[in-house]
Amino acid sequence: MIIEPKVREFICTTAHPEGCRENVKQQIAYVKAQNIKKGPKKVLVIGASTGYGLASRITAGFGCEAATIGIFFEKPSNGKRTATPGWYNTAAFEEEAHKAGIYAKSINGDAFSCEIKEKTIDLIKKDWGKADMVIYSLAAPRRTDKNGNLWVSSLKTTKEAFTEKSLDLRNNTIVEKTVEPAKPEEIQGTKKVMGGEDWMEWIEALKDADVIEENALTVAYSYIGPELTYPIYFDGTIGQAKRHLENTAKVMREKFPKLQAYVSVNKALVTQASAAIPIVPLYFAILYKVMKEVGNHEGCIEQISRLFKEKLFKESVPTDAEGRIRMDDWELSEEVQRKVVEAWKQVTTENVTEISDIEGYWEDFYQMFGFHLAGVDYTKDVDMEVKIPSID
Ligand code: NAD
Repeated sequence: MIIEPKVREFICTTAHPEGCRENVKQQIAYVKAQNIKKGPKKVLVIGASTGYGLASRITAGFGCEAATIGIFFEKPSNGKRTATPGWYNTAAFEEEAHKAGIYAKSINGDAFSCEIKEKTIDLIKKDWGKADMVIYSLAAPRRTDKNGNLWVSSLKTTKEAFTEKSLDLRNNTIVEKTVEPAKPEEIQGTKKVMGGEDWMEWIEALKDADVIEENALTVAYSYIGPELTYPIYFDGTIGQAKRHLENTAKVMREKFPKLQAYVSVNKALVTQASAAIPIVPLYFAILYKVMKEVGNHEGCIEQISRLFKEKLFKESVPTDAEGRIRMDDWELSEEVQRKVVEAWKQVTTENVTEISDIEGYWEDFYQMFGFHLAGVDYTKDVDMEVKIPSID
């Protein structure tokens, strides 16, 4: 059938298998051209199907020729609806990896559960013996913990209500949006879902089962962003969760002294997770414009291949005073932020297409779902039922 995008505010309810394949192929081609050289051999990627996790899997697989096991939570097509983009991305990734003789297997299920942790451990034991790198790139709205408690993540402030300009994604107009303060249980819920507890549980489970090298590298992803978005991000519920994640890296290093545990603070980019944060999409559209003009705009694949090439596998890993790797260095540079603040003050519905890269924002958005990719014939019939080779 012919598949078209169906956009509802910050989500697209369809995905295009051929477009997702093209997207993955373009990322593979980029990574191969980077000549990364040093890297891991057996990499477990938790949250491997879209955004930063997919870019990490592609960088490990095609930049370092590493074997990868990818964990994610995606839906296959049921014959009526398309699969989710992460499903199609993974099918394409595995096919390309197998063609290149690179090991790639995947597990689709709830990474927070004991069942998926056990399944992963069994697979590592059977196929690898031990993993030498674990990338933690989950972005989830809720988590059932190992005791059966359900936690829900919120995107709210932790102090007073916050009102700012925002992009109404339904019609590209500038509106004012108020984000309400969270109740204590919402702060707690966000920390439980997006903090470091589950990352620690993964590492402990892998250690207990003896399926992770003693000096393995583990990296989780965080975000800080500019002062402009502090009330909703850095000082908001999600920021509290990220501080917990960052602290977890320290606790891990103390508990397992030979383990190299890092948090990498990445750049703001349009992904399924970040498009849902209020106020932030307008910041993205302005940031894209400024960074493209300055000449240092990056997408997920550029960020992660730079992380591998210039940070993770150096003699000593460069970090800030808090021990974090700063991949947001270019985003937070004085020049970029000064220009972003100037544009933010000026932006209105009338000038939003000139002042911000709203077109670039939407191109990234559509491409996440496999649409608007050059070289794909969207008028052709495609089969939406696609198999991931390693999943029955
Ligand atoms: P994303 O939505 O593109 O990816 C999320 C991944 O998690 C997908 O592979 C999805 O299948 C998986 N997932 C979600 N729930 C799951 C579950 N219960 N079990 C198994 N897998 C599950 O998100 P992203 O933006 O790439 O975010 C990844 C990480 O990077 C997050 O920690 C995020 O905070 C961080 N980060 C994002 C940005 C940004 O601007 N996008 C910036 C800095 C850091």
